[in-house]
Amino acid sequence: MLMGVLGTRTDVSAEPVGPAGATPLRPALFVDRDGTLNPDLHYMKDAERLELYRGVGEGLRVAAEHGYRTVCVTNQSGVERGLYTREDVDRIHRRLNELLRPHRARIDAFYYCPHMPEHGCDCRKPRTALFEQARREWNLDLTRSAMLGDRALDVEAGRSLGLLTALIRPRGHDANGSAELLEGSMVPDILAHSFRGAVYRVLSRG
Ligand SMILES: [Mg+2]
Ligand SMILES: [Zn+2]
Repeated sequence: MLMGVLGTRTDVSAEPVGPAGATPLRPALFVDRDGTLNPDLHYMKDAERLELYRGVGEGLRVAAEHGYRTVCVTNQSGVERGLYTREDVDRIHRRLNELLRPHRARIDAFYYCPHMPEHGCDCRKPRTALFEQARREWNLDLTRSAMLGDRALDVEAGRSLGLLTALIRPRGHDANGSAELLEGSMVPDILAHSFRGAVYRVLSRG
């Protein structure tokens, strides 16, 4: 891996990540992190501040029970901005899986872009390099996969890859968001008010 150039992966895998072809094709539930799994605290550095939204554990567990790999793809420009380090990001990802454990759930893999938008990299959502990397490393079937997020750029990334897209907007939280979506003409396949609700609707489509 070209650290410092490309986005990278936090290795939390309990099993070896085999070469493509070594494991059967599986669908992925791609999920955004901040604002989707946990409240967005803006450039969060400290893993101790991490909290999960209610229903996230159940949603991830049910997706896994239905054969989905759970893959988090997140923009973390705070790294290049010098607000936190890659080690801080890795610590948050390990903490996230600790918080999921009592729910018998986990994220199988975390991929993040450390760059600022000005960098023009291929790994920052809505660009799709990290999704492609995950597809190769986990042998994922994108035709049966979905993307869940809270922003238009999540929907845009998912749509570029032909994924089923779900936008999660808690009730009473969509004034700015609707404008943002309309501007980008990014209408998701599923508009849900909770993570858990989005997962059940993805599963009912699959
Ligand atoms: Mg987000
Ligand atoms: Zn990047």
